[in-house]
Amino acid sequence: MPPARRDAPDVVVVGGGIAGLTAAFRLQQQGRTVTVLEAADAVGGMMRSTRRDGFVLNRAATLLPGGHAAVIRLCADAGLGNPFRPLPLSVGIPRDGRVRSLGGEGLGAVVEGVGTDLLSLRSKLLLGRLLVDMRRWTRRLGHDDYEAAGRLDTETVSAYTRRRLNQEIYDYLIEPLLRAVYLEDPAKMSVVDLFVTLGKFTKGGPMRYPTGIDFLARHLTSLLDVRTGATVQQVRRTEAGVRTRWRDTDGDHTADTRGCVIAVNGPAVVDIYPDLPEGQRELIESIPYAGILKGIFALRRAPTNLPGLIAVPSKAGMGLGIVTYDSRSMPESAPTGKAVVSGHWVDDYIKAAAGRPDDELLAEMLRHMDAVVPGFSSDVEFAELERWDTAANSRFVGFYQIVAKLRRLMDPDDVVQLAGDYLWNPSTNASVESGERAAAALGERLRT
Ligand SMILES: Cc1cc2nc3c(=O)[nH]c(=O)nc-3n(C[C@H](O)[C@H](O)[C@H](O)COP(=O)(O)OP(=O)(O)OC[C@H]3O[C@@H](n4cnc5c(N)ncnc54)[C@H](O)[C@@H]3O)c2cc1C
Repeated sequence: MPPARRDAPDVVVVGGGIAGLTAAFRLQQQGRTVTVLEAADAVGGMMRSTRRDGFVLNRAATLLPGGHAAVIRLCADAGLGNPFRPLPLSVGIPRDGRVRSLGGEGLGAVVEGVGTDLLSLRSKLLLGRLLVDMRRWTRRLGHDDYEAAGRLDTETVSAYTRRRLNQEIYDYLIEPLLRAVYLEDPAKMSVVDLFVTLGKFTKGGPMRYPTGIDFLARHLTSLLDVRTGATVQQVRRTEAGVRTRWRDTDGDHTADTRGCVIAVNGPAVVDIYPDLPEGQRELIESIPYAGILKGIFALRRAPTNLPGLIAVPSKAGMGLGIVTYDSRSMPESAPTGKAVVSGHWVDDYIKAAAGRPDDELLAEMLRHMDAVVPGFSSDVEFAELERWDTAANSRFVGFYQIVAKLRRLMDPDDVVQLAGDYLWNPSTNASVESGERAAAALGERLRT
């Protein structure tokens, strides 16, 4: 978009991840002209895929559960119909060198699954309390209800488990499941994280989709004006609206528009938006981010009996948090008879990995994968490493109180609106919802 173009859009959206693309699509549906500026050379952000030798490799997100209602609605509204098919829940948790399977549907899986030898009889009986508490909490915690979440955000999951359950349930059920969902150590997580997550389990198991997870970002891009390789350096409020400065291979550009949606992560918002009101800046700065390392493995032979997801307890001591059977979620992602499987490394492993070369790390990661799935490395055709340095906002007691304060301070009348997964519980669905909220607020502001 050249600086002096007469057809400058009504709105610039900063960030071509799923939050930004959703905001742009919803604004365009309202009749606004929109340009999306994305720093990377491809769209999708953490919902991005690459292709190699007939394999489709999701660089970050892979799992789309049936509870992701906003994602499903967005697909339909954007003309994709319903590209999803439900998959049976298939979760494994390693204990004492063997993966124990939890099968079944919805939360029933957790209960049915304890029919396996994952937990002692005493722990299985105590799980009744978890179900009772879950019903109570789900009633108090409405979907995306940040005010209720803030009020209930006063205890760690581990303290709750000690009070109501026991250490075995924490070590071999709650801890691995939360670690798998949030990709960081659950020790400091809030009890709200536990019940928001269990609530999600009840809303639907995993879904299958046809190609790489970038299908949605690529489709939205085909409907929108999106510039890749365009790094926004500054967004400023002006008398007439908003001025955005960005740089691409042609040089520096400026656009004056009536509104802007900033759909990048918290640290990047603080960097590029000096007019961010003081209270909001402090709150966003107070949320630390955690990194994730993702090893993506193309297999020459599809594994048999591999669960869709293996949640690895930190007790396993490897930094490996979750193994996902990616081509179970997207069957067309590998040549016939082959498969894609990923591992996600979290916690202290990330810090230790910072200066180490990819080859050395991948060799070590394959040893970890072998420890969970015996013989795994012998079927690997090739492996790739993706380093996410600021992957997700960290979870801790008080996080939902910060979110509640932040969202109360965000002015729906502002010509600059914020979107992104840091405004709730990080997931593709939360980002879609945040993009929709930003588009609704800005659309209303521009209309009046
Ligand atoms: C390893 C991993 C696995 C995950 N697995 C799942 C999963 O299975 N299921 C699930 O639902 N969620 C998962 N998530 C979370 C989910 O992917 C994210 O919450 C969601 O995709 C975030 O979308 P977003 O648009 O808010 O942010 P992003 O995807 O981060 O998009 C922000 C975009 O802004 C761009 N940008 C940044 N700065 C600038 C700038 N100055 N100028 C222009 N552009 C800029 C970035 O390049 C990026 O493309 C996972 C995340 C990770 C890291």
